[in-house]
Amino acid sequence: MYINGKWISQADKTFAVYNPATGQKIGEAVDGGSEEAAEAIQAAHTAFLSWSKATAYQRSRYLYDAYRIMVEEKEHLARVMTEEQGKPLKAARNEVQYGADFLLWFAEEAKRVYGETIPAPRPDQRFMVLHQPVGVVGAVTPWNYPISMITRKVAPALAAGCTIVLKPAEATPLCAMAVFKILEKAEIPAGVANLVTALDPAPVGQEFLSNPLVRKLTFTGSTGVGKLLAKGAAEQMKRISLELGGHAPFIVFDDANPVYAAKGAMLVKFLNTGQACISPNRIFVHKSGIDAFLTEARKRVAAMQAGNGLDEGVRIGPLVGPEAIEKVERQVQDALDKGAELVIGGKRLTENGLDKGYFYAPTILNKVTPDMLIYREETFGPVAPMIAFESEEEVIEMANDTVYGLASYVYTRDISRAMRMFEALRFGIVGINDINPTAAAAPFGGMKASGLGREGGREGIAEYLETKLGGFSI
Ligand code: NAD
Repeated sequence: MYINGKWISQADKTFAVYNPATGQKIGEAVDGGSEEAAEAIQAAHTAFLSWSKATAYQRSRYLYDAYRIMVEEKEHLARVMTEEQGKPLKAARNEVQYGADFLLWFAEEAKRVYGETIPAPRPDQRFMVLHQPVGVVGAVTPWNYPISMITRKVAPALAAGCTIVLKPAEATPLCAMAVFKILEKAEIPAGVANLVTALDPAPVGQEFLSNPLVRKLTFTGSTGVGKLLAKGAAEQMKRISLELGGHAPFIVFDDANPVYAAKGAMLVKFLNTGQACISPNRIFVHKSGIDAFLTEARKRVAAMQAGNGLDEGVRIGPLVGPEAIEKVERQVQDALDKGAELVIGGKRLTENGLDKGYFYAPTILNKVTPDMLIYREETFGPVAPMIAFESEEEVIEMANDTVYGLASYVYTRDISRAMRMFEALRFGIVGINDINPTAAAAPFGGMKASGLGREGGREGIAEYLETKLGGFSI
């Protein structure tokens, strides 16, 4: 743990961290609780007094330094991530760069927290709007993107003038420690950014909710935990941002090239072994193109190699743990029982030493129907469920028929249709012939059960700012 500018290691209170590809222990983290969280919150509160008064230029400088160091250490960070989280090394390098991009973007945005003057109704009156940091932030992050999800919160919070206490996922504390070592090297003042690792997240989460010094809670993770935290935050009316689960539709129209669309769909579906909140969870293909789409998709999936992400050529890393395997198995079995067709995959992988980790074969299911679990539940695993459709109206209705609203994808070559779909889909992100509609400069977030607020972009820093109106009578 990193509290008030000091690393704290308590040998008698640690938990083990395992490589999900090999089952081997790779390190340990301190098992913190509410006491350590309270200590970190107090340090953040004290540091807030000076950090919030530093100029935007000073705060920006620290974030630039952190960006530079993170890019310099990319290879090291990527290796830590592959060992701890399992994604292939190339994907880990991409994530470290994405994580660093938030440091750079918010180093720049720190200097653009503009206020406003507003024409007033009385001749003797003047209105001025000022933005000020909300205060101490409590942050909770997931394991699937264990570095970028941290900088996506820490960078805007610090840029805005807030201080922060972060609790990373229990599966990936080593990545979090590596990020905080960079913040330390960037000489960010003591208490401004604090890290509390914990095996049991609940006591730390509870301290974030009950401690009145915490004025804002930012969370990325499952919708269930997000709701729990939102309810808790209501008690003291804390500000909240929630990036939650998704159930992305991927729609391929008859005017699109089905082979090109299948290439895109398979790339984004199996990214991070399907463990992404923007992973397609229902692939709708116009009935005229479904055979060509399936042929190409099957060919691509058959060529995907599963294994340890440190090995050359590996595309499919392990799932995070046994529950993740069970969830995928349950959804696939349910779909097959209800009439889905197995195109490829459909089983746990155990040959060639894979039994030591949590591997599931990349899978395609065809003829998926709305009564199947996979049509409604987020999978968070390597399964591509296919559904044929006939008309634009029908597919809009089917795509929007979900409680989630994070990402969606459309393949079409018709510009009018592209615009109609962009407007009709009730999702926070719409990729039109684009499987990666994300960047530090763009607002990321969901509607409905996918959350509240946006991260990245201009919006990202606004989540950490209060708006204050000054009325002056002169
Ligand atoms: P999770 O909700 O189980 O865990 C996320 C974090 O919450 C972890 O740090 C965990 O320790 C913590 N947590 C769990 N219970 C808590 C409690 N009672 N109090 C405080 N903290 C608690 O989710 P996960 O399995 O780690 O992550 C997968 C989920 O995250 C998926 O649903 C995925 O879609 C979502 N996700 C969303 C985004 C996004 O930007 N929308 C990005 C990545 C992941």
